[in-house]
Amino acid sequence: MQPRDLSEHEAYVPGRGAEEVARDLGMDPEELTKLSSNENPHGPSPDAVAAVEAAAPDVNVYPKASHTDLTERIAEKWGLDDSQVWVSAGADGSIDYLSRAFLEPNDDILVPKPGFSYYSMSARYHHGDASTYRISKDDDFEQSAEAILSAYDGERIVYATTPHNPTGSVLPREEIRTLAEEVDEQTLVVVDEAYAEYAAEPSAIDLLDEYDNLAVLRTFSKAYGLAGLRIGYAAVPSAWADAYARVNTPFAANELACRAALAAIDDEEHLERSVETARWAREYYHEELDVPTWDSGGNFVLCEVGDATAVAEATQERGVIVRDTSSFGLPECVRVSCGTREETKTAVEVLNGVVADLRPEASEP
Ligand code: PMP
Repeated sequence: MQPRDLSEHEAYVPGRGAEEVARDLGMDPEELTKLSSNENPHGPSPDAVAAVEAAAPDVNVYPKASHTDLTERIAEKWGLDDSQVWVSAGADGSIDYLSRAFLEPNDDILVPKPGFSYYSMSARYHHGDASTYRISKDDDFEQSAEAILSAYDGERIVYATTPHNPTGSVLPREEIRTLAEEVDEQTLVVVDEAYAEYAAEPSAIDLLDEYDNLAVLRTFSKAYGLAGLRIGYAAVPSAWADAYARVNTPFAANELACRAALAAIDDEEHLERSVETARWAREYYHEELDVPTWDSGGNFVLCEVGDATAVAEATQERGVIVRDTSSFGLPECVRVSCGTREETKTAVEVLNGVVADLRPEASEP
């Protein structure tokens, strides 16, 4: 007895956790600064914590009212109909729902390279496959409809990530329009806005009125600080919004997650503080790191360090966990998340120290 042929499937490589690294290195997790997973260094909104505590005694009941309330609140925020909001377990859950709703066996999707790996993982789970378009370092990772369309060959779904993980580059709104207009009628363009709160560009959600082949992904994992609860959504055009009822995993968005998201969405102070810190930190990285960095619209910065694996291991030993982007296809770079001011300053000190120590001339007599 064997599972189906999974040889084409890759495992997801997450940023390493503080507990895990501490165990490996025989350190106390408290001594480590984790800047490898683009998490919110301010933690969740206190209102979300209170909502989780208040809801805890009721988790014997399936999440129904909370799911409805959250859907309504998100719809109100964006001026959408409730049916256009597909609440899911993280934005990852929405990626699966879109795969389920759109992919027939052997359909292809088009994804950025480097890029977020779950798009193609999800396509493969759903018996599809993925082709890639390049976001090139030679062009400073600039994103354009033209570059995407030059690789496009009628795929069923085209993913664009803005701000892009791991490079931080932004796909301008006019380019999103061009993309939606230029692809075939039966191609869905998915704009992944997991990091959009940190960017200056407005959301593409208001374009859903104009295009019925566009969907937008959002998450509570980053700016709202709820990564551990797994809650996100897709905003979709009304023309096919009713597919949700047919593809949704029942109750996948859990009670505590829905209640926390409902509280977090109205805590503007926490959101503003989170965004403001990230904007400060990414400028600080640009100015203070002694290695090339790229402009980022997200809560992280990509840095060119030489041997990423060696640098990530060395920073870890000095207490700062950064993301080696080799698994994204960038073995010469690390991605460092925006921390609190103190964490960000520590990261700069440690990264600069490691890079200086690992430079070839540093080992010469
Ligand atoms: N899209 C991008 C570009 C991401 O980086 C992530 C998380 N790392 C996600 C989607 C998924 O986020 P979540 O499932 O936590 O909402």
